[in-house]
Amino acid sequence: MPPRAVTKSVRKTGGLFDGVKSNVEALIIGVKYFIDPKRMTMFYPKEYLEHRPGYRGFIVLKKEVCISCAACARICPSAAMKMVRVSEVDPKEPAKQRQKQYPVINYQRCIFCGYCVDVCPVEALYHLPFHDVTYESLGDMFLTLDLFQKEPLRPVEKEGVPVVYEVDETLGLVKRERKGGG
Ligand code: SF4
Ligand code: SF4
Repeated sequence: MPPRAVTKSVRKTGGLFDGVKSNVEALIIGVKYFIDPKRMTMFYPKEYLEHRPGYRGFIVLKKEVCISCAACARICPSAAMKMVRVSEVDPKEPAKQRQKQYPVINYQRCIFCGYCVDVCPVEALYHLPFHDVTYESLGDMFLTLDLFQKEPLRPVEKEGVPVVYEVDETLGLVKRERKGGG
């Protein structure tokens, strides 16, 4: 005997009363968290998040350390890192030019996985512990070799207070002003 379809009655929703009730409930939740002194909202840019060392933020190249192995560009899963060929003075024979390759980064594509930093055999790449850098155009997010060697400016550090989120045994997750380093 073929199985019979089981039908259940479902409560009808979507009436005017349900709509008003949902909106009132949402407002009550909003007001509750607005007046809660323990609320965790960060008032950016008056406050900004200070990540701990090891956080995978922006990446900087130490060109003088780079051995042009291209491991960083090969491992990049999102094709954000590419090698560019440059002509430069040969330090062994200053009268001569030499051809070398160095990585550059496109922050339109980077997913901040950190593979490039991890794979570099000579630690020529390092992360900064922040993400909040703004660019005026998408084109600016494709860094040149010169820009890739400079730590990006972060104006919020001059204007705001660094905060961290920590677990408090009594209060749960809380926001605190960061004191000292790390
Ligand atoms: S962090 Fe990841 S995605 Fe970004 S450039 Fe490095 S390997 Fe590519
Ligand atoms: S992996 Fe390191 S040494 Fe090799 S090209 Fe990239 S930055 Fe340079």
